[in-house]
Amino acid sequence: MTGLCQFCHETEVCNDNDQASTCVECASLNRHEVFQKNWTNLRESKELGFLKLREKCEKMFPFVIKYEFTYTPIHFLDEIQHKKDESAESFLQTYCLEIFRDVVPVKVVNDGDSFYNSIACLGDLNGDFVLELRIRNVIELVLKANVYKYNYKAFVPVVDQSLEEYVLNDMLQNQRFSKIYDFMSMPSVLKINIKSIYPSVNGLVDQQAKMLSNQTFVPYGGADGQ
Ligand SMILES: [Zn+2]
Repeated sequence: MTGLCQFCHETEVCNDNDQASTCVECASLNRHEVFQKNWTNLRESKELGFLKLREKCEKMFPFVIKYEFTYTPIHFLDEIQHKKDESAESFLQTYCLEIFRDVVPVKVVNDGDSFYNSIACLGDLNGDFVLELRIRNVIELVLKANVYKYNYKAFVPVVDQSLEEYVLNDMLQNQRFSKIYDFMSMPSVLKINIKSIYPSVNGLVDQQAKMLSNQTFVPYGGADGQ
C-alpha cells in the first residue's frame, strides 16, 4: 500500500510499517533539520487559522516525541559561562519582591527569544534547542489550549490577546517576545515548575506586576507532569 510520507506529506511512500511511512529524504534529516522543517510546517498554517494549526500539531506530535527530551536544570552557575545580567539585577533589587533579592539573573541573548534562550541556558542545551523548545511549547499549548485557558483564566485581565491570536500572530514568529501564554505550557514541556519574577515598575497598582510577581506555573496534571 502506498501513501504520502507522514512527515513532509509530499513524497509517495510504502505505508506497510512505521519506518516506511517516512520518505528517504525525511528519514535522513538530523534532529535540528527535522525541527526546522516542523517550524516551516507550523508557520504555513498561520494563515489558515487555529483549527488547521491544531490539526498540524496533532500530526506533528508523534514525530516530535520520537526525539527523547529530558530537561535537567543546572544547579550551579559557572562565573565564566553564566554572566550576571546587570540591568536585570538593577530591576530585581529596585522593583521586585524582597524574597527575590538573592536571585542571580543570568545574561542571555536579548533577541526576542530571551525566554527560550534562558531555558536553553539553564538546561545547558546548545543554541539549536531554542527553536525546538519553541516548537514543543507551541504544540503543547495548541493541543491543550482549552485546559490552559481554563487553568489560567485568572490571567484574562492582564492579557491583551486571546491564546489563539497570540499563537498565530506572535508565538509562530522567531524572536518575538514571550508572553504569559509561553509560561503556561512550558512547565509541561520541561516537566518542572517555573516561577515568574516581575518588576513592579509602575508601582503596586500595576495589575500585571501583581499577577506575575510571584507566580508558579506547574506542569499539566501537577508537579510530576503526569
Ligand atoms: Zn518526507
